[in-house]
Amino acid sequence: MKTEKSELPVVGVDVGGTKIAAGVVDAVGRITGQVKIPTDARNATTILDSIEQAVRASLEAAGLNSSQIKGIGLGIPGVVDPVAGVGMESANLGWHNVPVQALLEERLEVTCYIENDVGAGALGESLYGAGRGFESMVYLSLGTGVAARAIIKGNLYRGTHGVAGEIGHISMGAGDRACRCGGKDCLEAWASGPAIAAQAQEAVQAGKGSLLIELVGTAQEITAETVFEAASKGDRVAFDIVTLAGRNLAQAVFILAALYDTQAVVLGGGLVQGRDELVKAIRAGMEYQLKQSPLFGPVLEGMPVRVSELKNGGPVLGAAAIFNSRTKR
Ligand SMILES: [Zn+2]
Repeated sequence: MKTEKSELPVVGVDVGGTKIAAGVVDAVGRITGQVKIPTDARNATTILDSIEQAVRASLEAAGLNSSQIKGIGLGIPGVVDPVAGVGMESANLGWHNVPVQALLEERLEVTCYIENDVGAGALGESLYGAGRGFESMVYLSLGTGVAARAIIKGNLYRGTHGVAGEIGHISMGAGDRACRCGGKDCLEAWASGPAIAAQAQEAVQAGKGSLLIELVGTAQEITAETVFEAASKGDRVAFDIVTLAGRNLAQAVFILAALYDTQAVVLGGGLVQGRDELVKAIRAGMEYQLKQSPLFGPVLEGMPVRVSELKNGGPVLGAAAIFNSRTKR
């Protein structure tokens, strides 16, 4: 019997500035043929070459050809126009107004839909992960960048310009740290992976003796992971950096909860995978925030704050879910 088109799998692609992950996702969210290749980020054409290569490698690994899939969903960093299929701006990819959808459809000869990568992550968690069972949720992605997206009544909420949830570049009023966006004191300048690492590097360079340097050797080698490890072993400098990041992120969760008033918040991204130091710091910060607010504290007290359950497969599942969300109507 011939398989109905609607039952065919979808290829999900998570496009990052350094790596591209792709996998074939079936109707119930099982992934086969998952591959990860480095991104050739020299220009838009080489990035599209890398995406094409990842899709073809994934299909080959799953033993399929492009006529045996419904289409391709892609999660792309930065500002995306999902309707026009254009990657508008991305600091990670360094491109500007690239008609990603049209160019990929020409290369791969199947329908492609694109979405902001955090939006894809949010939809993935909502359908297959820690957000299952909630009609509305906010997904806060913590990694190289910090950004959120909301799912409202089961649908991804994009806002007017596709940037609803871009909380990483609002000022936290906590100092004057420079942010890579050119602004000052952004949430991302305190609580992203590179920001956590940079604060530890600065502390070590300022002569603050710490376990941090023992774990790696030189200040430049310190990563967010090093900071979490040192904090878990009782290092004061590392602990204070994680606590401050947690406090700022808790404030972000509180703002998101006040804006969207969703049933749950899901924390995802590389900074909460495998290690729980940052999650603990966020929860401690939340407790403080709720106590400070006699008005919203009692309302938001019981709101579940969950950690992503999808781990490495999450972005690929989310990207595939983007395709399905565009074709279900
Ligand atoms: Zn910024």
